[in-house]
Amino acid sequence: MKKNQNDNLMDKLVSLCKRRGFIFQSSEIYGGINSCWDYGPLGVELKKNIKEFWWKHMVVWREDIEGLDASILMHPKVWEASGHIEGFTDPLVDCKQCKQRFRADMVKSDRCPSCGGELTEARQFNLMFKTHMGPVEEDANVVFLRPETAQGIYVNFLNVQKPSRQKIPFGIAQIGKAFRNEITPGNFIFRTREFEQMEMQYFVKPEEDEKWFEYWKEKRMAWYSYLGITKEKLRFHRHGKDELAHYAKAAFDIEYEFPFGWHELEGIHNRTDFDLQHHIKYSGKDLSYFEEQTHRRFVPYIIETSAGVDRTLLTCLTDAYSEEEVKGDKRVFLKFSPHIAPIKAAIFPLVKRDGMPELARKIVNELRRKTNVFYDESGAIGRRYRRQDEIGTPFCITVDSQSLEDRTVTVRERDTMNQERIAITKLSAYLDEKIEVPLAKNG
Ligand code: ATP
Repeated sequence: MKKNQNDNLMDKLVSLCKRRGFIFQSSEIYGGINSCWDYGPLGVELKKNIKEFWWKHMVVWREDIEGLDASILMHPKVWEASGHIEGFTDPLVDCKQCKQRFRADMVKSDRCPSCGGELTEARQFNLMFKTHMGPVEEDANVVFLRPETAQGIYVNFLNVQKPSRQKIPFGIAQIGKAFRNEITPGNFIFRTREFEQMEMQYFVKPEEDEKWFEYWKEKRMAWYSYLGITKEKLRFHRHGKDELAHYAKAAFDIEYEFPFGWHELEGIHNRTDFDLQHHIKYSGKDLSYFEEQTHRRFVPYIIETSAGVDRTLLTCLTDAYSEEEVKGDKRVFLKFSPHIAPIKAAIFPLVKRDGMPELARKIVNELRRKTNVFYDESGAIGRRYRRQDEIGTPFCITVDSQSLEDRTVTVRERDTMNQERIAITKLSAYLDEKIEVPLAKNG
């Protein structure tokens, strides 16, 4: 796609998301707040489905990973130990003329990308949000909004391992909010200051780190395929020495080709024993692991998989957006995988009489107990189909006059627009099969 088409695609997505209730600008009636977004009725469903799909793959379907939900505010020493107070910085430059700020590593020349003015020398800017615990605003009460969910997992390593009786190798997974005072947020929900992460930390024997690093690289890439993302638009990017974070021995990003270029979706890091060793040192507590079989005590290495919920959602939207000409009309549809679509089926009476609405309502009420469905009786049937296409509903079920006689309905599939007749009694099983979450246990 050409640049204009790509810019266009982002504009179309932002507008569709607003119009159809996926995503709105935060505090919009006050003019909005930069880089903060609110998820509306459909956005919330899509987000929930993505998170649930991740949780299934990473926790429910595995015996070796436990879940956790740690608090956002943590003891300030955590961030000293983790290296975030000292090292979680981005180089920042100011434009002397227009006063705008930029991440130095994202500015291509020594002039301001906005007005061409002269830029200051780069200085390090810490990305953590600070606040105060309790009513007194003094240095002793400073706490931070967590910039990653990972640290909540490290400090709870033994709290989780002991009651769950997990043996190494095993993992701890968590989904939760993280906050970063990004210098240049942007590209819709791609880079924001408040976002959600889906992180898993896998604790391994130090000598097995490389094996598990490879294992998780492959598993995580496969997950995006099961999510329904186009394979050709995904790739690995290996971090060079100068890109590696302060804690990492090796790192790969999974990148997606967004309309604004190839960018990171998820990071897979070999964090060695950096984090646990630092927490041992700063807390004075022993976080080592005793292996009964070998009678060996050691501090595990950690392989981290760290994905952004919002970035994954943007990927799903971008990848799903489709347009085609149908009988001289433009049809817009989101070809989400059925298991992540916010609404699984819409049910329509062909006309608002002869008992069709009543039968359609009955079907909706039965299906609703199992899955997310939507009833619509307003407007021509073609327009009703288009409204569902635009929000990615995979199936539209229509009750017509034949339904009243033989208790069958038509089911129209979103991408092909093909229709088939199905007995009402078989609808539930039909949908179950079509929207089944892909992949068997541990696959
Ligand atoms: P980037 O280079 O894009 O700033 P990062 O390397 O700092 O990202 P990580 O620290 O590895 O990112 O975070 C893991 C994941 O969390 C990222 O792959 C991304 O999906 C998500 N993420 C990180 N920062 C943001 C943000 N500001 N907005 C939305 N998602 C984010």
